[in-house]
Amino acid sequence: MNASELGLPMAVPAEGLPARVRIHEVGARDGLQNEKQTVPTAVKAEFVRRLAGTGLTTIEATSFVHPAWVPQLADAEDLYPAVSDLPVELPVLVPNERGLDRALALGARRVAVFASATESFAKANLNRTVDEALAMFEPVVARAKEQGVHVRGYLSMCFGDPWEGAVPVPQVVRVCRALLDMGCDELSLGDTIGVATPGHVTALIRALTEAGVPVPALGVHFHDTYGQALSNTLAALQQGVATVDASAGGLGGCPYAKSATGNLATEDLVWMLRGLGIDTGVDLGRLVATSVWMAAHLGRPSPSRTVRALSHQEQ
Ligand code: MG
Repeated sequence: MNASELGLPMAVPAEGLPARVRIHEVGARDGLQNEKQTVPTAVKAEFVRRLAGTGLTTIEATSFVHPAWVPQLADAEDLYPAVSDLPVELPVLVPNERGLDRALALGARRVAVFASATESFAKANLNRTVDEALAMFEPVVARAKEQGVHVRGYLSMCFGDPWEGAVPVPQVVRVCRALLDMGCDELSLGDTIGVATPGHVTALIRALTEAGVPVPALGVHFHDTYGQALSNTLAALQQGVATVDASAGGLGGCPYAKSATGNLATEDLVWMLRGLGIDTGVDLGRLVATSVWMAAHLGRPSPSRTVRALSHQEQ
């Protein structure tokens, strides 16, 4: 495949959208942690390097959870130093103070905690109530902030929960406020099972704004389970959100959430944003080539429509 042969959409800007979007690339973490097979550290490092070479500026590298929880990312101590020279932001997940210690010891400057908007998922993912999980994160965030480390707060199940059904907006707003009040710099609103639709996205972001949450502190993390990820992204952009999570090649989902499949593919996102004339700094051809390369390592084709269309990947 020759990158110069790749097509790009005609750029036709629409009104009321951000001029630039920062993509928070999650393929190396959220994507690979959900692969059955464990990818060798050297391949992961090469993946992160190739992603950095596409122009992505924020590449979530790995997770400092206990290796028994996520064996696919048990090599965090080896991977992080193998990529930390890259001139990009390399956030890492830290579930607790032990994880923060491990990340700080390697010089991490961006960390993320992962909270839940629902009791059922807090119990399933963290074996805690929502408030117990928040209490666990408080010292993590406080210590990170003392060190001048940027903290992102992931919030799962912001729209629907596989056990509880639709998640009330005020419940999500309460946990978002708690994460910001404890010092998180940024929130990522997760549609973990992909059930959000655009009106719901608009309503949640408006409710957050009314609760005093600044829109620049918001990112969105959509899953394409029901084919809504790009529609939901557009709804968020219309509310001023300019940070969007996506996974190269559409890698990943969530191992603890039944039916959670299909992170929004970064290529699909870049295609839409380019069409809207929104700058991301990402070279789509290089990104597609990177996902084709990773798909070959995983032994299966990328689920991204854009990767398929631009690489003529056989299905
Ligand atoms: Mg995800």
